[in-house]
Amino acid sequence: TVGLTAQEAGYKVYLVGGSVRDLFLRSPNLDLDLVVEGNGMDLAKKLARRLGKVRVRTHKKFQTAKLIFDDGLIIDVATARMEYYKSPAALPVIELSSLKMDLYRRDFTINTLAVSLNPKDFGLILDFFDGLRDLKGKVIRVLHNLSFVEDPTRVFRAVRFEQRFNFRIGKFTEGLIKNALKIDAFKLLTGDRLFHELENMLLEEKATDCMRRLGELNLLEVYHPKLKLSDKLEAILDSVEQVMAWYKLSFLTLPTRPWLVYFLALADPLDEAEMEQLCARLALAPRLRREIKEMRAQTLKVLNRLQRNQLSPSKVYDLLHKLKPAYQLYIMAKARQEWAKKAVSRYLGNMTKVKPLLTGDDLAGMGFDPGPLFKEILERVLAARLDGEVTTKEDELALVKS
Ligand code: ATP
Repeated sequence: TVGLTAQEAGYKVYLVGGSVRDLFLRSPNLDLDLVVEGNGMDLAKKLARRLGKVRVRTHKKFQTAKLIFDDGLIIDVATARMEYYKSPAALPVIELSSLKMDLYRRDFTINTLAVSLNPKDFGLILDFFDGLRDLKGKVIRVLHNLSFVEDPTRVFRAVRFEQRFNFRIGKFTEGLIKNALKIDAFKLLTGDRLFHELENMLLEEKATDCMRRLGELNLLEVYHPKLKLSDKLEAILDSVEQVMAWYKLSFLTLPTRPWLVYFLALADPLDEAEMEQLCARLALAPRLRREIKEMRAQTLKVLNRLQRNQLSPSKVYDLLHKLKPAYQLYIMAKARQEWAKKAVSRYLGNMTKVKPLLTGDDLAGMGFDPGPLFKEILERVLAARLDGEVTTKEDELALVKS
């Protein structure tokens, strides 16, 4: 349909970038990138009309559009800018392949493959920069020497793809990374972009490996000068990975903000002031910065208390329920004793679901005045239930009366 619609409109359309790479790697990808030689926005609108049941978002300035389908599929449509080069002798204007120009602006050779979708040459693979060779050789390679200077976020993308696909950053490309570090190309990066790429790595299944590799390349220092790879840092990151795997297995989903658990672990070696510097460098929103500051302080207290001696379930509940899930998981990863880890996992697995059988109505029926007292009574009942002191509603009533 895409190719046909393009042909009718007189355009050429290609599937490009990560979607083609993932086709070759047989890796699922719900994000398709199209490049149009012609008018991308117009093609997107025509496609939407034809396919129906899709939301279209256009970005006029960049001549791009996004088609968002209900089942999660996203199609990004970009316009390949026509580049005209006048020859000195005023010969006719030469039109370079605009697709090739578009692909030349990309990060790595493995992301420069294109597949033609027009019916006339449907399925034709265009490989201008040896992307297929590098896919086969499992190498991450930039397209030109200034790539990382032009956009230092590519350094983090290189590490992310390397770890995700089990590839290797090419020797020359690795040299360019070292050079980018030497000339401090990262200082011009906005906090926003720096954070976005860090978040992307921390959302990878192999987040710990990404951090390890950043450490090997001395890139952790880009976030904060005190961040360096150490056995201790690796151990806590490994521990987070185990906790995340446990969580995924137990609940068949990830916790909210999974990146934050890794982030807390990464910042483990930093004291409060250094953590603030890190958050500032990453331009985190003031609210999140405040949350991290407060919760991190609480987290340390809770961890100390949890590790001192084994506590009753209601005490564990008391300590943990005011923290958000990311911090609870961080505590679980950091706890040294197995029983302390278990206490957190039991909290996450069972305790959050336990509720008193008595309700506010029951209490009102017993003559109590609604208000703070209700909350207090129900909390006491909950604690008794968590500790196995009450099981039935009658038990609870008896407890309240006593
Ligand atoms: P992912 O699976 O992580 O989404 P992707 O390759 O699809 O991987 P995107 O970030 O969606 O990554 O980018 C889409 C395409 O845009 C990439 O394949 C790449 O060609 C290009 N691209 C993205 N970021 C950059 C960049 N910083 N510099 C150059 N090209 C980029």
